[in-house]
Amino acid sequence: MKNYIIALIVLMAFSCKKEVKVDIENRKLKVVTTTSQVTDLVKELAGDNVILEGLMGAGVDPHLYKASEGDVTKFYNADAIFYSGLHLEGKLEDVFEKMRHQGKTTIAVSDAISKSDLISSVDFASSYDPHFWFSVTQWKKVTQYVADELSKLDVKNATVYADNAKKYIEKLTVLEKRNMAQLEVLPIEKRILVTAHDAFAYFGKAYDFQVVSLQGLSTATEAGVQDVQRISSFIIEHNIKAVFIESSVPVRTVEALQAAVKSKGHQVEIGGTLYSDALGNPGTKEGTYIGMYAYNMKTIVNALK
Ligand SMILES: [Zn+2]
Repeated sequence: MKNYIIALIVLMAFSCKKEVKVDIENRKLKVVTTTSQVTDLVKELAGDNVILEGLMGAGVDPHLYKASEGDVTKFYNADAIFYSGLHLEGKLEDVFEKMRHQGKTTIAVSDAISKSDLISSVDFASSYDPHFWFSVTQWKKVTQYVADELSKLDVKNATVYADNAKKYIEKLTVLEKRNMAQLEVLPIEKRILVTAHDAFAYFGKAYDFQVVSLQGLSTATEAGVQDVQRISSFIIEHNIKAVFIESSVPVRTVEALQAAVKSKGHQVEIGGTLYSDALGNPGTKEGTYIGMYAYNMKTIVNALK
């Protein structure tokens, strides 16, 4: 299947060569985005000024997402592709690489963040943890970067993108302040977040949480029995009240953990479902980045306080 997709890319590149690009001045910019976080950001910045196609909906795991034939057609029809980067979209990276060599504008929004602000990780080919959107501070930088890139691609709407970025960054500042205020009820010793996969390191760094996860950074590897045993002992030892499910990761790993705690004569609640690598359904509050973050924060504080 993968070879087929690569062959398709080569074929489409060849057939596109004769195409004369219509001047963007006279039409809307066509943008394809990968994760729902990136889709939401472009929507906030561009509104109706671009034709936007987001590939991954609610509950879709970007680590495992493979491009379909239809996706490849969307990539080719787009003026630009915005994706998260740092190998979050592990199976799309090859495709984007090939397209970049063919002259397609592919933009990793992670390029907005300086290396010193990224969390190192040996689990990814990029050597960095790709779940950076959980740092609101870094997401502000991403916001400015995406607005700047949109402005370069679509000069006629440059002031719209700049204005929207300014307003959105202000909203993100409000979100940060609200997060800090909500956390006041949670003393440091209760700030331990146990989740299905390791998406929350940036959250932990920003808000002084110790983060423990069953799976590694990518959901491509399943949690082993040893991990479940080790973390169940940790939960008992630290008297942790609740562990969390994630919307884009199967529930069975966290349930196995809960069962392991029970088998040792203790109890741990499932504190709720957190949005990790995908936002909630479109049209709901959790379907936006800000709504998702507020929901996660409320869920975590309520379950652990
Ligand atoms: Zn992840």
